[in-house]
Amino acid sequence: MNKALAPEKRAELVLKEMTLDEKIGLLHGEGMRDWQGMSPAIKALQYMSNGGAGFVLGVPRLGIPVIQQSDAAYGVRASASNGRYSTALPSNLGSTASWDPEAACAYGALIGQELRAQGYNMTLGGGVNITRDPRNGRTFEYMGEDPVLAGTMGGARIRCEGEQHVISDIKHYAFNGQESGRQEVDSLIGERAAHESDLLAFEIGVREGHPNAVMCSYNGVDGKYACESPWLLTEVLRKEWGFKGFVVSDWAATHSTVAASAAGLDQEQPLDEFFGPALKKAVESGQVPMAQLDGHVLHVLQAEFASGIVDDPVVKSVVDVKHGFEVARRTEEQSAVLLKNAGGVLPLDRAALRSVAVIGMHADTGMISGGGSAQVDPPGEPAGRRWKAHVWFPTSPLLALKAKAPQAQFSFASGENNAEAVAQAQRAEVAIVFAHQWESEDYDLPNLSLPDGQDKLIAAVAAANPRTIVVLETGSAVTMPWLAKTPAVLEAWFAGSSGADAVANLLFGDVNPSGKLPMTFPMNESELPRAAIAKPPPPVVNGTLSFKVDYNIEGAAVGYKWYESKNRPVLFPFGFGLSYTSFRYEDLHVSEDGLLATLTLTNTGSRKGAEVAQVYAWIPSSAGEPWKRLVGWQKVELAPGEKRVLKIRLERSAMSVWDEGAKKWNQPAGVYRVAAGPSSAELPLKAEFSVR
Ligand code: BGC
Repeated sequence: MNKALAPEKRAELVLKEMTLDEKIGLLHGEGMRDWQGMSPAIKALQYMSNGGAGFVLGVPRLGIPVIQQSDAAYGVRASASNGRYSTALPSNLGSTASWDPEAACAYGALIGQELRAQGYNMTLGGGVNITRDPRNGRTFEYMGEDPVLAGTMGGARIRCEGEQHVISDIKHYAFNGQESGRQEVDSLIGERAAHESDLLAFEIGVREGHPNAVMCSYNGVDGKYACESPWLLTEVLRKEWGFKGFVVSDWAATHSTVAASAAGLDQEQPLDEFFGPALKKAVESGQVPMAQLDGHVLHVLQAEFASGIVDDPVVKSVVDVKHGFEVARRTEEQSAVLLKNAGGVLPLDRAALRSVAVIGMHADTGMISGGGSAQVDPPGEPAGRRWKAHVWFPTSPLLALKAKAPQAQFSFASGENNAEAVAQAQRAEVAIVFAHQWESEDYDLPNLSLPDGQDKLIAAVAAANPRTIVVLETGSAVTMPWLAKTPAVLEAWFAGSSGADAVANLLFGDVNPSGKLPMTFPMNESELPRAAIAKPPPPVVNGTLSFKVDYNIEGAAVGYKWYESKNRPVLFPFGFGLSYTSFRYEDLHVSEDGLLATLTLTNTGSRKGAEVAQVYAWIPSSAGEPWKRLVGWQKVELAPGEKRVLKIRLERSAMSVWDEGAKKWNQPAGVYRVAAGPSSAELPLKAEFSVR
């Protein structure tokens, strides 16, 4: 209990006092309340559960608390069954579109506070798998297609969540790129491409966020399950990155005792099949050395001390609902991306506006959210919702828009009947269509089209009203066959608890849009590295890697790097987003060591606005990787006419190649071309530096 000692030292002192049973107790979960299939012994412990996805016994005689774990991707999950309330923030992907690490920090801090208020001291949030396939049903839970963006934004979120004294987490480690057959799929990727893509997101996330836990994923990686891969869990995570906390398996992603322990898995969830009695036996028979077991225990204890949950035990409290609404609204305002605004349709002029047709499913009452273990319960939700139900949050676009222009006439059509929607659109001065694409864990999108005939609805409305504005509530990219005929499109993502207020503020110009796409919107599915998402061949046998997904096709060239290297056109490029003002870029300089870029940015329009100035680099051609990479950015708000010199720190690892022999980053000698501008496709400024 001496707080002056380092967490590692305190962990060692506790370890010395522990019995074998107490040690084993820290290395597996004790099930989930209301679950079927638990042994009577584990059932008997359920009185200790806080109702989250899992819990781990403490050692009360040594002051070690129970670890209460909850999913918390965009807010604390499953409050309804506990009669509690949680804020739903915009989706992880959506919030990444802010490109603002401070916004990511506020996001993480809010979740950390609400976890503790509800009696949890560990989060299971923090997904940074990069978007290899936009059809992956968990795209909304991750942070886009670029490793530096995902790692930086994820790291800021994780750091600030952990600062609230919860055990913080990063997941799903690694190459869990699709949901179809996620327990049977073997993801193929070599070491070099792995380091330069998904692993770089985790590396930066670990470096910046100091997570206390890493969740290994369901899938295999190059022939071994992620949760028993010595390469991922020991060589990369511990030796290369110096990770000190514990590795927790995804739920039922543990497949062995001896192999998993030797590989570096520390804690099995949600039960004790491999890391309970079987682990004890393996230790007693010498198959798992005691020193190895102690290593696992030290990792868990280290995380408990480092996170602060021992010194600052959780005390339940009432969630600050208003504060949550505020953070959710501000995040959404920074994250919605204005994709198109032809003829100055937006912002709407509240004084001049006479009539508006609001169209779209539930646009009178709510906005959609992402499903699966990430699902946050909306207020009023009864306990026991179906897995994968579509959940709409009670944030009403119709009411929020009406509040902005009380003198205007508003009509509403759900869009289920196109003729009714068209008739309303014809009568109104402006039509606003709210379109959605639902996403969830345990599901992949069949394609990137808006479902339920919404493309036809939008086309019909746009044909009826030349001032049609489309607001997208999507978890990933969508195709837009109606784009040429529609003057304005705002990507609002899964917009969270205050989504409607934020969208209304943006449409009426009370807030100037500043979000930029964290992933490419492709023209269509045929431009992707794989024509379709691979499915497991029947019969599906749990515990065997029965099919492969070859990520070597694109390797490290994920997202915009893929489209660029294949010379394929895209619908909207990575980093793209419009504003109601305009910016001028001038004077790019890069320091001799290639680690600092400076440029001058001016707001040349008549409104205050924030811009994300982006810097990309091409490494020397000798590396054989001809695509550009995002290496730095800065988001700044400027008053009309204001000019500022930005100093942008550049990420060296993103300008390096992974040397498989030496197991380190290496900057090839030669000329590095650097470019800066408002998106990956518009880079007016050029500079260079050289490495000798
Ligand atoms: C998901 C994890 C989640 C866990 C616990 C799994 O199905 O993949 O992301 O943390 O369940 O709910």
